[in-house]
Amino acid sequence: MTGGARPVVLAAPSGTGKTTIAHRLVEEGDDFIFSVSATTRPARAGETDGVDYEFVSRETFEALVAQGAMAEWAEVHGQYYGTPRRNLEAAARSGRHAVLDIDVQGAAQIRETVPEAVRIFILPPSGREMVRRIGLRGTEQRAEIARRLRSALRELGRAEEFHHVVVNDDLDRAVARVRTLVQDSGGMLRPEDLDERVRTLKDEIRDILSEDYADTAR
Ligand code: 5GP
Repeated sequence: MTGGARPVVLAAPSGTGKTTIAHRLVEEGDDFIFSVSATTRPARAGETDGVDYEFVSRETFEALVAQGAMAEWAEVHGQYYGTPRRNLEAAARSGRHAVLDIDVQGAAQIRETVPEAVRIFILPPSGREMVRRIGLRGTEQRAEIARRLRSALRELGRAEEFHHVVVNDDLDRAVARVRTLVQDSGGMLRPEDLDERVRTLKDEIRDILSEDYADTAR
């Protein structure tokens, strides 16, 4: 990719509010543009094709991958998700930062395929708050919440791979921080107590899983 503003990758476990942060960046000005991912998962109530995701069949998704049309792709919770390269090209042409709201596996691929991208990991303030934010969506069942918490345990261990780590304890502050990081990039910003924070979060999630979700299938 040549010219244009650098893309920003936001990755985080479910329930951290990263999608909200991504949408706020885009709504607050015209220097960010949301990268609409392709996915094989069915649309949820309130989602619009071409706005939230491009909803495609498995056959179409596999064909796009085979054509090299994806900058990254991954299987998340049993469904395919990917970033069409043309999103990055369109953002670069318009001089805007493409905002990629993707999972940790996809972010690792972007490190190779789009090395100029700024990669930011978002942390939730606590495990209970994560469950609350996942639960708020209403569409997920208990087994699904447990599955996402188990994925979170794996994903949290990968915060180190990112340029920056931002704690989403206050939405306005988190959005402002991400904006500043993308605009002045350089250096590395992480909470001073990152290791301790991640350890505490994982302990809390393990406790929640064993106290409230022990009956759900692994
Ligand atoms: P959801 O189904 O809840 O919208 O998203 C599930 C997970 O897939 C989230 O972590 C979301 O960020 C991630 N995701 C969404 N789009 C993409 C994408 O294009 N690539 C990858 N690797 N992950 C994605």
